Amino acid sequence: MPVPVSQMWTVSTYVLRQKLAGRKQYPLVLMLEPLFRCNLACAGCGKIQYPAHILKKDLTPEECFRAVDECGAPMVSIPGGEPLMHPQIGEIVEGLVARKKYIYLCTNALLLKEKIHLFKPSKYLTFSVHLDGQREEHDLAVCREGGYDIAVDAVREALKRGFRVTTNTTLFDGANPKSVRAFFDEMMELGVEGMMLSPGYSYDKAPDQKHFLGRARTRRMFRAILSNRKKEWKFNLSPLFLEFLMGKKTYPCTPWGMPTYNVFGWQKPCYLLQDGYAESFSELLATTEWSKYGTESGNPACANCMVHSGYEASAVHATFNSLGGFLATVKGTLFSRYRDEEALRLLEEPVAAVNPLVQIAAPQQDSLQETRA
Ligand code: SF4
Repeated sequence: MPVPVSQMWTVSTYVLRQKLAGRKQYPLVLMLEPLFRCNLACAGCGKIQYPAHILKKDLTPEECFRAVDECGAPMVSIPGGEPLMHPQIGEIVEGLVARKKYIYLCTNALLLKEKIHLFKPSKYLTFSVHLDGQREEHDLAVCREGGYDIAVDAVREALKRGFRVTTNTTLFDGANPKSVRAFFDEMMELGVEGMMLSPGYSYDKAPDQKHFLGRARTRRMFRAILSNRKKEWKFNLSPLFLEFLMGKKTYPCTPWGMPTYNVFGWQKPCYLLQDGYAESFSELLATTEWSKYGTESGNPACANCMVHSGYEASAVHATFNSLGGFLATVKGTLFSRYRDEEALRLLEEPVAAVNPLVQIAAPQQDSLQETRA
């Protein structure tokens, strides 16, 4: 099992309680961004292009705890920026563990070995290490030579000390499905608990605008990658979300399922878009015009989106909405290898060369290459 039984039990009983209470909109994972600073400048990132006075800001531990308590979600993901650059990250994590929240601390791991003494192994804490593929692919994606080796070394150290470790991987146009599958083998051999995957989102602030995927290309790429699965591969994601990426399921977006709190407040409507902020979680739920978002809304900002933060909560809701959804989840978790002859053929197709390694200093406004489909 890629997720401990206690975590599955906590999440399942939480969702069932929301359903019994008749709640239609409830959060599953709080995306807590305690800062935007980062020690990398990845070409596909839309989070770090803020002016210096914003990049200097940190949420205080008390602000983090207030947001977590107010939101009530059983899981907290801590992205950023790079959370290990927050001066009180140890205190924040300790406070969340005390609240029995399942925490995914998302890190590029450049500072993990140096800061690991700040943390204690716990079933509530997982280091979710950003690795975008094998050595060459990862270093290209994060615009940093040697980044893969540092991250893998830190993963080994964290595992040796008894921490839970997963990987999180964002895939862009030009990703080589064969290489991604080889990367899965490497990560399983390394001993991580599970792997998380998402297509990149076309942030309009991201420096590299040429390599975002349209929906049809996303489905084709994930079909090639995730069909004919090896039984050793473990994913720390809903199997129905993976089927959504492969084009086997369609779901509407559930932007309130993974709400975002950061130095500006509660971000409307989701982790990716910034259509204003609310002062409280209840205000976020009450004042966001949810019908304006999601692929079906016709909103161009949502047209190509299939990202984890919008659609994994949809897949989890599908699990609990019907017996069929529950059985599909069990089958996807335990039994399905997703045999697919056509996907084997897709693996043999030539892949366009990826972008050259560049250290991004400032956003460039290149023209957007059309990838919508
Ligand atoms: S479709 Fe994507 S960008 Fe649009 S609201 Fe959902 S998660 Fe946000």
